[in-house]
Amino acid sequence: MRLVVVFCLIATLCALAFGYYVSQARRHVGADYTALVTDVVRAQQDPAALRITLDSLIDSQDLIHLEQIHDLLWRIPRRIESIQRQLRRSELAPTRYADLVEELTYVASRLPALEAAVDAAAEEGLDEPASEAMLSLGMEVEEGLAWAYSELNEQLHQASAEQRLLMERLTLAVAVLLLLLLLAVGAVMLMLLHLYRQRETMRLQSRTDELTGLSNRRWLREMAEQAFDRWRRHGAPLSLILLDLDHFKRINDDFGHPLGDAVLVAFARALEREVRRIDTVARMGGEEFAILMPDSDMAGAQHLAERILRATRAMPLPGPAADRRLTVSIGVVEVADETGFDRLYSRADQLLYQAKKSGRDRVVSDHDAEDTEWQDHEDDTRG
Ligand code: GH3
Ligand code: MG
Ligand code: MG
Repeated sequence: MRLVVVFCLIATLCALAFGYYVSQARRHVGADYTALVTDVVRAQQDPAALRITLDSLIDSQDLIHLEQIHDLLWRIPRRIESIQRQLRRSELAPTRYADLVEELTYVASRLPALEAAVDAAAEEGLDEPASEAMLSLGMEVEEGLAWAYSELNEQLHQASAEQRLLMERLTLAVAVLLLLLLLAVGAVMLMLLHLYRQRETMRLQSRTDELTGLSNRRWLREMAEQAFDRWRRHGAPLSLILLDLDHFKRINDDFGHPLGDAVLVAFARALEREVRRIDTVARMGGEEFAILMPDSDMAGAQHLAERILRATRAMPLPGPAADRRLTVSIGVVEVADETGFDRLYSRADQLLYQAKKSGRDRVVSDHDAEDTEWQDHEDDTRG
């Protein structure tokens, strides 16, 4: 029981830790940086394009490049804005991109000045100092953009790498959890198996006589009730044999109680050798035994009783009692009316009493008994 509580506790802790980790990880793992990376790669061409176009304007003095510059200066702030918007919406921690956003904002704020410088230079002639101012502003914008975009690229690469690492850890965690689950299921199965075996052992013990390993009185009664059911429903014959060892007290007195026990065990084995598989052999207590014989009529039961009688006489006794002969008195009954087990047992007991009274070492059955009176002789002082 304590094991189950500990196991439940550990399982709950595992589930909580895993749930927390997953909720944290899902945020990062679920993030999709593909669109942002594509935009950044495109934007990274802007500073180079600006540099080339400005140089071309100065070198070729061709105003066609002026249009290209205006085009670029129109495109750059929109791109900056779009990237900043995507960054705000992304799962990336703001502290990671605060610097570069600041730089981009600054660059964006310098673009109108650059545009004015380009126009001024175009008006005043491209050799004039105005072009110097244009070039230095252009350089500033170009460098700012180049740094911010490459920094952003780096951050996105790092975030992707972290994402991969998280995925690997999650997979590992799931595998470990599955393993734990398997172990837990295995442990529970083992526990159940153990409980089942324990119950089986107890069930077996509760119906077994400790000394001889035969069925005990309770089990014989249970089997008898079932056999009675079959007799009532299908009329299948049912017989009971009751056996009591003769002068058993003497064996105890002469050779000691332990040897008496050994004789009881030997007798039990002899009984088992004689009966059929469907018969139930039980020790009813002391040196009294019973055999329940389903599907067996009086003739069959008498036949077995006679065989047991002979086998008992011939049975070798253990150790110092080897010279002694053992005999048994037997009462045999067959179910004749719906009496129930207690009535049947009582009848067999009276026949057994007659066998004792008429000299022991014999079988008395319903057929042999004359003037049978069905009174209870339980308290009779046989032997
Ligand atoms: P009878 O022929 O009239 O049956 O004589 P008996 O001596 O067999 O009958 P009695 O009832 O006088 O004595 C039964 C004896 O069985 C007395 C008791 O010590 C012995 N006995 C009962 N249970 C056990 C047991 O478990 N082990 C041993 N060794 N002896 C037992
Ligand atoms: Mg006896
Ligand atoms: Mg007895």
